[in-house]
Amino acid sequence: MQATIYKSTGSWYVVKTNDGEIYQARMKGIFKKNEDITSTNPVAVGDLVEIEPEEGDAANAMITEIGERRNYIVRSSPHGRLKKHIVAANVDQAVLICTLKEPKTSQGFIDRFLVTAAAYHVPVILIFNKKDIYREKELERFAELEELYTGIGYQVMLISAKEEDGIDEVRALLKDKTTLASGHSGVGKSSLINDLLPGLDLRTTAVSGWSGKGLHTTTSAEMYDLPDGGRLIDTPGVREFGIVDIPKAELSHYFLEMVPYLSECQFNNCLHINEPGCAVKQAVNDGEINVDRYVSYATILETINEKEY
Ligand code: GDP
Ligand code: ZN
Repeated sequence: MQATIYKSTGSWYVVKTNDGEIYQARMKGIFKKNEDITSTNPVAVGDLVEIEPEEGDAANAMITEIGERRNYIVRSSPHGRLKKHIVAANVDQAVLICTLKEPKTSQGFIDRFLVTAAAYHVPVILIFNKKDIYREKELERFAELEELYTGIGYQVMLISAKEEDGIDEVRALLKDKTTLASGHSGVGKSSLINDLLPGLDLRTTAVSGWSGKGLHTTTSAEMYDLPDGGRLIDTPGVREFGIVDIPKAELSHYFLEMVPYLSECQFNNCLHINEPGCAVKQAVNDGEINVDRYVSYATILETINEKEY
């Protein structure tokens, strides 16, 4: 019967059938041989699988088949830079929870996330949390970022998970979709998930000291059914969404506001750094492309090591 992976520990999985039955499942041995050697995990949260319940055991099942993925999100594996780890499969959209204070999410981090999501064709909603503690300075910064990112085509929201301000709007956006939730630890991801899933009570961790970093306890992705329909995938404090699969020449395709200029560069292999006749740099100079976004582009470009491919 068909089921969906709700949780993966690496060696066993929590799966839910279309009828809502929950099993603990293991992979049938045969997959070990066929395992995709470029990823450390053959099955991820969100994957559709075929399972066979084990005879005489009401709670256990074997995964016998893995369905094709519509898409997936990866990060580089801690077990070696050449390998990727599939964070989640078959997602409709991602929310990146950010903050402008306690702790501050850097624009570089936001842009890395957006590049990764764009490369996997996953739309992103940027949710800025902790509105209740923003003063004029942060509200102004939010207005700038809101203008920048909505201009590119991303949805941007300002909420307070603590005061449950803006949560209904978030609920409406998540309804009937499978959404990946990410964010640096300390931004209030657990608090927001607790607002969305009353009764779940994920552990939240107090932010300590000026560094503003919360201690995060989650270690693997887990999916939850939302009360109004739809699913939410909680990912562990993802430090770096790996830009693992993106060649240098392709990076600008995932800075969506650069795309209209790409065909106008003098060289068709232009990396938009030092080349003459670069339409992207011209657009930056003309104020049509935000300079901070261009800095993110150049910074990410430098971190891509072509030899790894
Ligand atoms: P996570 O690490 O992203 O899961 O963050 P938590 O949900 O554990 O929250 C980290 C800290 O930020 C905790 O002390 C929360 O109480 C606090 N926090 C979460 N959301 C808000 C918010 O909207 N406003 C304020 N002022 N604090 C918040
Ligand atoms: Zn160029």
